[in-house]
Amino acid sequence: MKSSLKITLVLLLTALLSSCAWVSKRPDPPYESLRETKPETAPVTDPETEPETAPETVPETEPETIPETEPETIPETEPETVPETEPETVPETEPETVPETEPETEPFEKPAKVPGAVITGYTSKGYPIEVKNGVTYIDGQVIANKTYSLPADYYPALDYERDGDPYPVTPETRAAFNRMCADAAKEGIRFYSVSSFRDYPTQEWLYNSYIQSHGKAQADRFSARPGHSEHETGLAIDVIDCHTVFETTKEGIWLAAHCCDYGFIIRYPKGKESVTGYMYEPWHVRYIGSPELCRAITEAGTMEEYYGFSSVYPD
Ligand SMILES: [Zn+2]
Repeated sequence: MKSSLKITLVLLLTALLSSCAWVSKRPDPPYESLRETKPETAPVTDPETEPETAPETVPETEPETIPETEPETIPETEPETVPETEPETVPETEPETVPETEPETEPFEKPAKVPGAVITGYTSKGYPIEVKNGVTYIDGQVIANKTYSLPADYYPALDYERDGDPYPVTPETRAAFNRMCADAAKEGIRFYSVSSFRDYPTQEWLYNSYIQSHGKAQADRFSARPGHSEHETGLAIDVIDCHTVFETTKEGIWLAAHCCDYGFIIRYPKGKESVTGYMYEPWHVRYIGSPELCRAITEAGTMEEYYGFSSVYPD
């Protein structure tokens, strides 16, 4: 019986030991539960909540508000205001104001040329025709041709080089002529006046004598009727010979080339008889003043062409 007791004791001991080992393994479940919650909550919240809220708010509000307001306001206001106001105001005001103000300002500037003169009309080039005491002025220049005459009592201020000087001219004409003569003399060319100022009675006598010798039609080609001669202005000088051959002399060539430098023009140029009313007179110079204006008139051909006025007797 003793051996059986030993066996049962051993069996009991082993049973006890094994039960103790089973109890010591119990703390496992709590670790398992920790391992379960971590992978469950982390993947669920990250991919579900973030993609749900982020793609909903960001792509919905941004593309809706920005593309709607920007393309609507910019293309609508820009093409409407810019092309409508620009082509409407620019072509309307420019062609209306520019041609209107230009012809208006010119006539208002010109009357100052001759204080106290009355404007009786305008030349074809737009220059005012100013008249004062019966004398016609265009651009401040005294005009005496077949259309415009001087009064019978017209006497400009004259410069007499000496007592009894038969060829007086205005002081400005004299000064310019003397300068020209002095410079020409340096090149061996001599000018001297053979005719200058003539008063109305002298011109009347001269013209009538030409009618008697050449007839009226021919006299009108080279001599002026009283009141219509440029020699009555005191601004004209006939230098040396009054012959057309003067054109080919060294004096004539020099005069044509240099008279503008001293403020003179060849008043009746070649081939302009239908314009000036007078045949070619290479010896007849007219004092203008400004060398630049003389060159402009010479380039235009005649005073009549430059200023745009006529030279025709009324009858
Ligand atoms: Zn002359």
